[in-house]
Amino acid sequence: MNAHSSPGIIVRSNEILNFFGKCPACGYPARASDARSVRTDGPLRATVSATCDLPCGWSGQLPLTIMT
Ligand SMILES: [Zn+2]
Repeated sequence: MNAHSSPGIIVRSNEILNFFGKCPACGYPARASDARSVRTDGPLRATVSATCDLPCGWSGQLPLTIMT
């Protein structure tokens, strides 16, 4: 869990239900847990804090990939 924020970064707590990213470790669908960071001082780029749906232990940042 990364709770600190930096200038130019907006962090929101929000569960993303329509997230379709995949775990880079095992390839299973990952769960977008809560944190979402959007840079405001550069190209539009969003990442989410994701965790693997399987207990492979992976967690980290993934690009925001949602069904639109
Ligand atoms: Zn995994």
